Amino acid sequence: MFDKVALIGIGLIGSSIARAVRSHKLAGKISGCDISAEARAQATALGLVDAMHEDPAEAVADADLIVICAPVGAHGALAEQFGAAVKRGAIVTDVGSVKGTVAPAMAPHLADGVHLIPGHPVAGTENSGPEAGFAELFLDRWCILTPPPDADADTVQLLQRFWETMGSRVEIMTAEHHDKVLAITSHLPHLIAYTIVATADDLEGQFKQEAGDNVSKSEVIKFSAGGFRDFTRIAASDPVMWRDVFLANKGAVLEMLGRFSEDLTALQRAIRWGDGEELEKLFTRTRDIRRGIVEAGQAGTFRAVEEARAGALKDN
Ligand code: NAP
Repeated sequence: MFDKVALIGIGLIGSSIARAVRSHKLAGKISGCDISAEARAQATALGLVDAMHEDPAEAVADADLIVICAPVGAHGALAEQFGAAVKRGAIVTDVGSVKGTVAPAMAPHLADGVHLIPGHPVAGTENSGPEAGFAELFLDRWCILTPPPDADADTVQLLQRFWETMGSRVEIMTAEHHDKVLAITSHLPHLIAYTIVATADDLEGQFKQEAGDNVSKSEVIKFSAGGFRDFTRIAASDPVMWRDVFLANKGAVLEMLGRFSEDLTALQRAIRWGDGEELEKLFTRTRDIRRGIVEAGQAGTFRAVEEARAGALKDN
């Protein structure tokens, strides 16, 4: 599909793309770039790329497709560094979890004739780095593309085919809409997970100070299967990546957080007043949402990932 693909940032997502590009033979050559010497060394040792560079301008030279796989806060500075080296007609895309900030940060540094089409594979794990990636990460997962209104239709289609060949289902929407949807489906859940795990961590010290009943850290770990465990998995996600997500999607996240706080207060009131009917009504409604996600095949579990790796993917 491409003579040369350049991957800027070779962590979980970049290395997964490298593996998928190799396994589907989507490029003649893959070049990589990473700010981290350790990631560069690991990617080279794993044979993920044909050439690894520290300088992004060297990595993008002659590339037909450039995929930025670094945290969203780095996109602008990266485009400034490599913009002049991008060949005319090349596609510049990214995988960032926020889309509204990407085009404004990158477009000023790219020449006319370079196609900037931001994207976001809605696929991931809590692990980071080149060793954490795997070729099947995008299998049956959505990839959202947010082309600007004047984007070349054939180029968008080519990028869509790239993702589809790696196993994704592609949807096209505006960057603003993407950021609103992801604020509630991804960003707010991560914020809640970070909060709840930190609250549990604080408990031990606080109870000790009050000389009351202690909840020890070992108890939190021991009995984590009661729901806490799922939050700890999400709260183990990369701190830099998520710092950038909240800074870049401030408006939509604050809007969803406001709505969430109102709903949480209503629930608090129902518990205080012993309003079981209200609680049951809500929990029944939310169970239906989970069933919908399972029916849509988007309830991916680690077991499903393992099965995919073993080449025996079943419907999840
Ligand atoms: P990751 O595993 O931490 O990999 C990111 C890599 O980029 C790291 O090696 C990092 O080095 C490097 N990097 C940082 N700044 C750079 C720069 N200026 N130039 C070159 N390399 C740079 O992160 P990831 O999970 O792959 O996430 C990458 C992107 O994918 C983010 O934009 C994120 O929003 C998006 N995304 C993530 C997920 C997910 O579940 N993880 C899902 C969908 C999309 P250092 O470690 O030294 O900083």
